[in-house]
Amino acid sequence: MTEFDYDVAIIGGGPAGSTVASYLSRAGLSCVLFESAVFPRPHVGESLVPATTPVLSEIGALELIDQAGFPRKYGAAWTSAASDIPSAGFSGLHGGLGAAEIEFRETDQEGVHQDYTYHVDRAKFDHLLLQHANSQGAKVFEGTRVRRVEFDADGVLVHIVTGEQDAGVRARMVVDASGRGTFLGRQLGVKVPDPVFKQYAIHTWFDGLDRTALTPDSQKADYIFIHFLPITDTWVWQIPITETVTSVGVVTQKQHFAASKADREEFFWEAVGSRPELRSALESAERVRPFVAEGDYSYAMKEIVGDRFVLVGDAARFVDPIFSSGVSVALNSARLACRDIIAAAAEGDFGKAAFAGYESTIRRGVSNWYEFISNYYRLNILFTAFVQDPRYRLDVLKMLQGDVYDDDDPRVLRAMRDVIKVVEENPDHLWHRHLGDLKAPTAAPMF
Ligand SMILES: Cc1cc2nc3c(=O)[nH]c(=O)nc-3n(C[C@H](O)[C@H](O)[C@H](O)COP(=O)(O)OP(=O)(O)OC[C@H]3O[C@@H](n4cnc5c(N)ncnc54)[C@H](O)[C@@H]3O)c2cc1C
Repeated sequence: MTEFDYDVAIIGGGPAGSTVASYLSRAGLSCVLFESAVFPRPHVGESLVPATTPVLSEIGALELIDQAGFPRKYGAAWTSAASDIPSAGFSGLHGGLGAAEIEFRETDQEGVHQDYTYHVDRAKFDHLLLQHANSQGAKVFEGTRVRRVEFDADGVLVHIVTGEQDAGVRARMVVDASGRGTFLGRQLGVKVPDPVFKQYAIHTWFDGLDRTALTPDSQKADYIFIHFLPITDTWVWQIPITETVTSVGVVTQKQHFAASKADREEFFWEAVGSRPELRSALESAERVRPFVAEGDYSYAMKEIVGDRFVLVGDAARFVDPIFSSGVSVALNSARLACRDIIAAAAEGDFGKAAFAGYESTIRRGVSNWYEFISNYYRLNILFTAFVQDPRYRLDVLKMLQGDVYDDDDPRVLRAMRDVIKVVEENPDHLWHRHLGDLKAPTAAPMF
């Protein structure tokens, strides 16, 4: 019989990989995690949604995160410069169709017993989760890059590089949690660029930013703010990192994004300058990190499970960060995958069929996120209308909390689809001129 060093080998120690390692170790499986960086390391993706809470709780890390001093996130707000958009039959509109806000306490969520989630410095958050995985029994190697995975009839051989040294480790199966590095997707040739979304982002941290520059309500200053810019498909995030430090990033489409580094910084300032109060607040603050650019990051995988492998988190799929869904998908994909992996270990069969439950649930959840995001880009005033309209508000909130895995075709997405169709088909509709350029296949999003 073949000898194995571990039951499961995990590639990558971001939130997805650490969470897989914690779940599996707690279930008594032996696992090894290889992380190419040495933590703590900076990472984009700092604002969580409440669907992360039940996962953190299940792996025994919620208290750790709660005590770590991350700013608590009680809600989210969207602002816009536009004030003259007609309501087109929607009710409950306060502050015009450009603006909206939600609080998580407005509705209950299964497994969530607090009315807030967190904004996190990812260097610290990811390090805490990785150390936690180690404390649960996972063997963690930092500074160790996976360079190839060989599959055979009953296991995998993972080739790693540490410094100058190469080595091989045998496991029954492999979990790819390599993030946008998409290690296995690239090795297997199953990665497909998204046909519609080609976004770029440029981001940094500011100390001393007046977070109320675009909101009259100082009580909400520690929400995440998404500021819509009067530039097609372009928006800014404002995320509290500490009491005084704020993360700010501009997200835009490829065609707007400047090629050279110097031009990118200029692009950032020009973009935020389209909301003059924001630019002036940023100019009064001190930038405390270099600008970082993230390019063309939307893609899917033709396969996310197979014989002896599973892809989780960004290694499986990434769309767009508009609704802060990334870490939540990372944690929930880890949760769902581990359910199947633990059952597979009990059966002693790590064949593709063992991961069918994971595959269908995560595809459903991510498809729902995809359509929600596509709807936003197609007609973003529809999003704010739905948030503000009492008929839809709680349904939208459920999506924004990250509750996307149980329903094949949520009512709110159906309703949004119907309105978009009406607006698209009628050039005289009051909202027709507000349609965005990005038109994704909403009813059957690609995966
Ligand atoms: C512009 C932008 C803004 C975002 N904003 C948000 C937000 O506000 N909220 C949110 O929830 N999400 C956000 N996201 C998404 C979020 O960053 C990701 O979804 C999240 O980090 C995914 O976690 P992960 O564990 O899958 O991957 P990662 O966190 O990327 O971790 C992958 C790890 O694998 C390691 N690795 C890669 N290749 C190898 C290898 N060959 N061998 C060993 N190790 C390897 C990497 O070093 C890395 O540490 C944003 C993304 C972008 C691009």
